[in-house]
Amino acid sequence: MERGWRQRAGAVCPCKAIGCFSIRVRILLVALISAGVSVLLLAGGLAVYEWQALRAGMVRDLEVLVHAVGEGSGAALTFGDEESATKILSSFRAEPSVLAARLSDTHGHVIASVQFHPRDDLEILPLSKGHVFEGENLHLAYSIQRNGSDLGSVYVVASTSEVRSRIAHFLAAVAIILLVALIATLPLAYRLRNTVSDPIDELSGTVERISRDMDYSIRARQVPDPEIGLLVLGFNSMLARIEETDRRLRDAQSGLERRVEERTSELLVAKEAAEEAARAKSEFLANVSHELRTPLHGILSFALFGEERVDTADSSTIIRYFSRIRESGERLLVLVDELLDLSKLEARKVELDREWYPLGTIVRCVADEFQSLLSEQNVSVAIASTSEEQVYVDRNRLMQVLRNIIGNAIKFSPDGSVIEVRTSHAEEGWTVSISDEGVGIPEDQLSSVFEKFFQSSLTKTGAGGTGLGLAITREIVQAHGGHIWAVNRQPRGAVFYFTIPYPEPEQSSDETERIA
Ligand code: ADP
Repeated sequence: MERGWRQRAGAVCPCKAIGCFSIRVRILLVALISAGVSVLLLAGGLAVYEWQALRAGMVRDLEVLVHAVGEGSGAALTFGDEESATKILSSFRAEPSVLAARLSDTHGHVIASVQFHPRDDLEILPLSKGHVFEGENLHLAYSIQRNGSDLGSVYVVASTSEVRSRIAHFLAAVAIILLVALIATLPLAYRLRNTVSDPIDELSGTVERISRDMDYSIRARQVPDPEIGLLVLGFNSMLARIEETDRRLRDAQSGLERRVEERTSELLVAKEAAEEAARAKSEFLANVSHELRTPLHGILSFALFGEERVDTADSSTIIRYFSRIRESGERLLVLVDELLDLSKLEARKVELDREWYPLGTIVRCVADEFQSLLSEQNVSVAIASTSEEQVYVDRNRLMQVLRNIIGNAIKFSPDGSVIEVRTSHAEEGWTVSISDEGVGIPEDQLSSVFEKFFQSSLTKTGAGGTGLGLAITREIVQAHGGHIWAVNRQPRGAVFYFTIPYPEPEQSSDETERIA
């Protein structure tokens, strides 16, 4: 674009034509043109001066000669003696530039005329004295006086060829000097060109690399030249500022992208959590209403039967209706109690009343509660507790946990089997395991059994549970800071483990002192 403009501009003005060349060529041309113009101006001045001087010298020399001839022509003029006049004029032969000479009297009559180099085109001017340059010749006339009166005149035509040839020689010498001057200028111009154009070339190369690679860490190399050095310095500091701005921009951009990503993933997690909560809530409500409706339905149905058959049915049937109504009512009460308990535990609204208790005693106490059921189902409980280990727990809540797990174990244990309760203490705290020889739990449902209203696919027999026991159990264990899990045992049955972590020293110090 720039180059094209320069080329167009160059077509208008020859000086601007230089602008279309590279800076290297321009420097070279400027140096050569300066040297050439200087030599030409000087040579032109000298040539003009020499031309004038040679012509003045020629006039002077010829005047002396003409003067001498004129003075010697007095007698020939007075007597009109052509022969002696011709002889006198012949003395001009000594001067090679003289082409012709003539002697005339006062009336202009030619007494004698001599032509040394006969030429047809020789022009004779009406000149009686003085000189004039006409064409390639000098015309010079001398008025001959004697005793104050004119006798006639001598007229000479001389060729200026010698003057011209000397000028031609001079100009040839000038041309040679010009050539030598230009040749001598070339190395100097080269050096000048290199000192100016090399740093500029390098600077433009750096600019090109930066704009191609978009790499602002590149710097131009410093040069010794003060002006261009200043330019390089300014360019480098500008680059440093651009690099810093670019870095900040990149940082801000990547920070922004990171923040957007973080926010997006946070929002995604929050959205998924909200969706999961909404789904769990609907599922929970569906389960609750289903579980509530079942005993309510029983109550209403048997109440209706009673109403309808109060007059016809015998008293034992009526009593059976009442006991069904009571059982359903009790079941409803248990369900409502457990729901309330679970919601309080989930909302962390339950204060644990923790104290030091012997773990073995608590386990035996719960096992005793199931004595009649155990003998009914022909199942026994084996307690393997090494010592009377003291645990720091809420006694009633721990009993509730054990009651639920042992109750489930009895419920799913086959006739004549043994339920094993073990207590131990590991690195993470006191550990209790309850194993049975029942149906076990499908592997993919081992963690789901702790969800509300969940029943494993192996026990959906309507065994009578609310489906809230293990959910409450997990909340109680977690409230103590522990955790609970289930595994299957070989060849059959399930094992439930839970841990209660050891209390922090300051947490139980009061109680420890009390027990001590
Ligand atoms: P439920 O009142 O129904 O027993 P739980 O929350 O106590 O409710 O138990 C949830 C489900 O976990 C049970 O319905 C049963 O499917 C399964 N389960 C619990 N304990 C055992 C066990 N010892 N053996 C096999 N399945 C069990």
